[in-house]
Parts: sequence; structure tokens; C-alpha cells
Amino acid sequence: MIDPFGRNITYLRVSVTDRCDLRCAYCMAEDMSFLPKAEILTLEELDRLCGAFIRSGVRKIRLTGGEPLVRRGVMTLVHALGTRLGAGLEELTLTSNGTQLARFAGDLAAAGVQRINVSLDTLDAAKFTTLTRWGKIEKTIDGIMAARAAGLAVKINTVALRGGNEDEFDALIAWCGRWGFDLCLIETMPMGDIGADRSEHYLPLSLVRARLRRGWTLSETDYRTGGPARYFDIAETGRRIGFITPLTHNFCESCNRVRLTCTGTLYMCLGQEDAAEFRPLLRAGADEAELQAAIAEALARKPRGHDFVIDRRHSAPALTRHMSVTGG
Ligand code: SAM
Ligand code: SF4
Repeated sequence: MIDPFGRNITYLRVSVTDRCDLRCAYCMAEDMSFLPKAEILTLEELDRLCGAFIRSGVRKIRLTGGEPLVRRGVMTLVHALGTRLGAGLEELTLTSNGTQLARFAGDLAAAGVQRINVSLDTLDAAKFTTLTRWGKIEKTIDGIMAARAAGLAVKINTVALRGGNEDEFDALIAWCGRWGFDLCLIETMPMGDIGADRSEHYLPLSLVRARLRRGWTLSETDYRTGGPARYFDIAETGRRIGFITPLTHNFCESCNRVRLTCTGTLYMCLGQEDAAEFRPLLRAGADEAELQAAIAEALARKPRGHDFVIDRRHSAPALTRHMSVTGG
């Protein structure tokens, strides 16, 4: 699938639910309203659509959300997609907040998942509860350890928050080093109303990296996971640290992905509103050729890039859509 700018689109992110058992303050408002069930694709519809994407050229699928592991029966989808590994699909992976991982890690590994990203913004139990509005850190840590024990490669995702966790990056690097995890820092993106001014917490990662260099020996690598992160080896821990910098460094020129929501809406760019609707097609009985034609038509509209800017004078989000709709 080659888009109008010559980029080969091989990566599909699928948000399987917009619901979540946490309410991270930078991601959701406390009183979020969620989608009615009738609008949500069944697990069979999601699998069928993923099949059409794989036959169109997708090689990697990441399940996300909301929290993917709170969708009832989600393992049915994971197993169905797992059978597609080696038959077009090369990698199946997941981004999770970890709360349900203690239950599902073994099953995920058995289905063919080899790597998992777990979001953890702090190691401090009280701060974790504040940042997630009610989460318990033990559940996430237990989940992470279960994933490790099941043989999954774990990467920790941490959103960098000015005045939130900026004093904890050294501790997170050391903790990840101890357990054998890579760490990825992410700049906050202005998506969705969260009932507060997000720009106050925006922390440019160029600044963070300069600070980290005082305590750690970082050397840039060519390592890529198919995502937008730039990775550095950390000599002291033997692990890597990645930086996802949508705002300080625009990474759109190498974008290889599109995003499908749980309602069957395909966003060609995380930072733009344009979308293609697959639910009406699926429910009108479209055949495989029609699905693939619709995928090709959508890809032809993939824009050059996003227009995120952090505007300190305006607190309104650049996009009304929350990150939990597309799953990051
Ligand atoms: N619930 C899962 C989790 O937390 O990993 C998957 C969905 S979550 C939306 C995916 C990633 O997006 C998480 O790492 C989260 O920290 C990040 N995220 C959410 N809102 C964000 C925002 N406004 N800016 C940057 N990253 C954000
Ligand atoms: Fe839920 Fe993930 Fe958003 Fe946190 S970042 S509220 S865990 S979807």
C-alpha cells in the first residue's frame, strides 16, 4: 500500500474499544461518555477488516484502545489474528495499561504476541493514583511482571509531564534497566478535551534528553520498531531509551501507519480529521474486493502530516478527538 507521498503503509493500529478502567488526566476527562454498543464493530467484523488490510499489504497490527484488555472476549480476536501470523501478518502486538495483564499475559504469548507496550508514567504509588484518577500501581506492576514471566518483551511508555513526572525519569531508566525493559518517553499531544489546560504540562523532550545526558551515557542507534521513536543506547543499563517527539520533531515523512477505531472509522493520520467509514460497508455485506477497494481509496487520501502545535495562549485541544479513540 503506497500512499501519495511514496510511503509504504504496512502498519495498522486497531483501537478495539474506547473504554478504559483508568482515566489518565492527560488522556481523558473524568466524566467521559463512551460509545453505544450498536456503533461498535463486533470482534468478528474487526477480524474480517484486519484480514482485508493484511491482504492489502499490512504486515504489523497493534491492538490498542481505550484499554484493549477490558473489551469483553478480546482474546477471541487476539487468537483469530494470531492465526494470521505467517500468513501475511508478521507481527501482532498490543499497547496496554497493564491492569489486566496478570490475567492475560500467558494467553497473549500463546496466541503469538511477542512484544507488548505498557504505559507507566510514574513509579510512585500515590502519584500513579493521582495521574490515573483512581488506578492502583500494584495492578499495573503485577501485570508487567506477568508479561515478563510469560516471555513477552516489554517496553514501557511514559508520557513526559512538566510538573508531573519530570523528576522521575532517572528512576524509571534505572528500574527499566533492572528488569530488562526498554523505555519510551512521549510528548503530550493536544488531543481531546480533558477538562484542563494541557499546555501547562507540555515538556519538550529535547530538553529532557539534554538533562538525561548529564547522568547517563546515551548514544544514538539505528534501532527502529516500526514506530516514530528515535532510540539511544544507555551504556549504564544496557537498555534503550526512545523519544517520541511529535511536536519538537515532526516525524511524518517516515509515517508507515493508519488507524482503525472500534467503530470502523479509519484515520489516515493521528493529527487530522479526515477519515473513511468501514462499518456501513461491512454491514451492507461488502465482499473482499469492495473492502480492499475502499482501503485503497482511503490510502490515496493519506495527508502529508499533522499540524499539531502547542499554543500557550489557547488551552483548547488541536483536535476534539481523544487519544483513546485512535489509541495513540
Ligand atoms: N490504554 C492503553 C495504554 O494506556 O497504554 C492503550 C491506549 S493509550 C491511548 C496509548 C498511549 O497513548 C499511552 O501510552 C498513553 O500514555 C498515550 N497517550 C494518551 N493520551 C495522550 C496524549 N494526549 N498525548 C500523548 N500521549 C498520550
Ligand atoms: Fe486509559 Fe490508556 Fe487513556 Fe490511560 S492512556 S486513560 S490507560 S486509554
